[in-house]
Amino acid sequence: MSRFFSRKYEALTPYVPGEQPQGMDYVKLNTNENPFPPSPKALGYAREHARSPEKYSDPEGTELRRALGFLCSVKPEEIVLGNGSDEVLNFAFMAFCDQDHPALFPDVTYGFYPVFCQVNGIPYEEVPLKEDFSIDPEDYCRRKGTVFLANPNAPTGKLLSLPQIEGILASDRERVVVVDEAYIDFGGLTCLPLLREYDNLLVTRTFSKSRSMAGARLGFAVGNEALIRDLNTLRYSTNPYNVNSMTLALGLGTVLEEAYTQKCCAEIVRVREKTARALRDLGFTLTDSSANFLFARSERIGGEDLYLALKQRGVLVRHFSAPRIRDWNRITVGTEEQMETLLRAIREILEERP
Ligand SMILES: *Cc1c(COP(=O)(O)O)cnc(C)c1O
Repeated sequence: MSRFFSRKYEALTPYVPGEQPQGMDYVKLNTNENPFPPSPKALGYAREHARSPEKYSDPEGTELRRALGFLCSVKPEEIVLGNGSDEVLNFAFMAFCDQDHPALFPDVTYGFYPVFCQVNGIPYEEVPLKEDFSIDPEDYCRRKGTVFLANPNAPTGKLLSLPQIEGILASDRERVVVVDEAYIDFGGLTCLPLLREYDNLLVTRTFSKSRSMAGARLGFAVGNEALIRDLNTLRYSTNPYNVNSMTLALGLGTVLEEAYTQKCCAEIVRVREKTARALRDLGFTLTDSSANFLFARSERIGGEDLYLALKQRGVLVRHFSAPRIRDWNRITVGTEEQMETLLRAIREILEERP
């Protein structure tokens, strides 16, 4: 810390992203990227239609919001775009939390939530998941505060049902419930239909996982027009051109190629289930994942041990050192071939340790 750094950030612990090794050729299963590139048509569309870089991008993302509105059965006015969904999530923490509206989220969830609170000076409470890592909706119904739930949750992959989410929304219509659907395209049921009944619901989505655009940085939030206006107030007060023109064009190309996205997601789900069976055969315990990753532990090897041994063999997975999940690893579902490499490495590692 320099002597110039504002005292208000003294205690801030920044988010630690998963490793992004440069140059080393790992089988990269640590940050839930899509193993497939965007469709050639989407890439071609982006090359042809991106606004020339000497011009500012469209601050409204008009065309993309229109296409997304069609895809999500909502009006374009009910959508705001972000530089990744991390940015719209940050706007949501800024907009809907304060001293009287603390943030509530599970003790095991996306690690960025507490950081958004700290950087914005927002009080928060981490609500413990049940022993089996499931969320008890009652825990949120009886507390006061703005709720943030990743659904499916990360890194557990576990899904809440629509009636469970509806119960939280209905328990207090005077607080916002943010549902982070970063992984919803891998088999979960979206809660977007609940928007018709609940003006306190905000849904966030990302192009990083199911739409193969992690490096292009594109996310969005869907909600009642009044909530979206609030988020836009903050967006125009920080970075009106938050989504660049290349990303806007690629995002639109990707939405126009929805069938390709669906095909890639279906393949990832197939490989997920196949890999889960193989890991269970090797004695692993897994949560029931509805995402593009598996969350697994073995009685035969510690979480960090396995992570390090896999890294030595050129396979990167994600290990978290938080006490409740230190025995576990989060493994992104890659191609069938990548998962075979992973399984081969795990078999070797286990054979070395009787
Ligand atoms: C990956 C992820 C995000 C953010 O992704 P962006 O790349 O910023 O769009 C948000 N929430 C969860 C739970 C995630 O796993």
